[in-house]
Amino acid sequence: MRTITWIPGDGIGPEISDATISILKAAGAPLEYEFAYAGGTVFEKEGTYIPEKVFESIEKNKIALKGPIETPIGKGFRSINVELRKKYDLYANIRPIKAPGPIPLKFENVDFILFRENTEDLYMGWEEKISENEAHSIKVITREKSERIVRAAFDYAKQFGHKKVTVVTKANIMKLTDGLFLDCAREVAKEYPEIQLEEMLIDNMCMQLVIRPESFQVVVTENLYGDILSDLGAGLVGGLGLVPGMNKGKDIAIYESIHGSALDIAGKDLANPTAMVLTACLLLDDIGEKECADRIRKAIEKTLSNKENYTKDLGGSLTCSAYTKKIIENL
Ligand code: ATP
Repeated sequence: MRTITWIPGDGIGPEISDATISILKAAGAPLEYEFAYAGGTVFEKEGTYIPEKVFESIEKNKIALKGPIETPIGKGFRSINVELRKKYDLYANIRPIKAPGPIPLKFENVDFILFRENTEDLYMGWEEKISENEAHSIKVITREKSERIVRAAFDYAKQFGHKKVTVVTKANIMKLTDGLFLDCAREVAKEYPEIQLEEMLIDNMCMQLVIRPESFQVVVTENLYGDILSDLGAGLVGGLGLVPGMNKGKDIAIYESIHGSALDIAGKDLANPTAMVLTACLLLDDIGEKECADRIRKAIEKTLSNKENYTKDLGGSLTCSAYTKKIIENL
């Protein structure tokens, strides 16, 4: 049994958390959950977005599964997600982009994994108001942080036998910052002579992703471009409700899907829990429980092979809880 920190989060978080836990239990996942509450609802009761016990739990268990947390506007933190990523130096945001089942899509054979640098770039929050009509934002790119995310992408490519890693920048315009990131990618690539480094500019990458998405396998990029490409990727494979993700540092990992708290559908039993369930599967893979994770993935695939099982975001009418039951039946 492995104890993990479980943060249900805000908005649709509690609903998709319940769904995910019931699927994990039905699949016999050897997990124990230490619940830790953070976010907007906690702020109202305790006056803080992340109570100290949440940090303590994450630091003790080293692994957390986190639901979406509302980004407070103008209340201390820039974003709780950014705060956690910075505090634990969770430098690699990794997002596999692949349809979880045979759903009808405009794009076929999309199957790539995105490595997004998670701690610097324009997300440092170093902004300055110069005057009423002028504001600046500072972009920070360092060799150390660029090299380690590129290395993570190449290590993954090597482990899974991919022949190419695509690095995405805008180095033709931001010659110093993106130029440095690209330079690091070229340097790191030399350590992996069997893997080709493909260089793409972010604007071209967006176009290529909708013209020939099947030609990418491993993509590595900076923080902001990674944020945008994640949502673009999610759109290619059926939407935010389907795509998992994880944030990894040296010894702590926080698993979380791409989507936010989806306040428009919260509390209505309408959310699609697939992204969180697949996120839990990534966690299971990493703790040596791939067999259990694959069984859950197969059950999702089988569930999605019948259009009658679609939730509202996929054009169907099943509620979150009814969809969860179907997955459990298909386990
Ligand atoms: P945040 O600022 O918290 O990231 P956001 O409003 O930018 O939030 P989301 O909360 O991810 O973004 O929501 C974007 C849209 O996608 C919303 O219409 C939401 O209902 C939908 N959505 C997001 N996640 C899901 C899900 N799991 N199931 C169904 N619909 C979802």
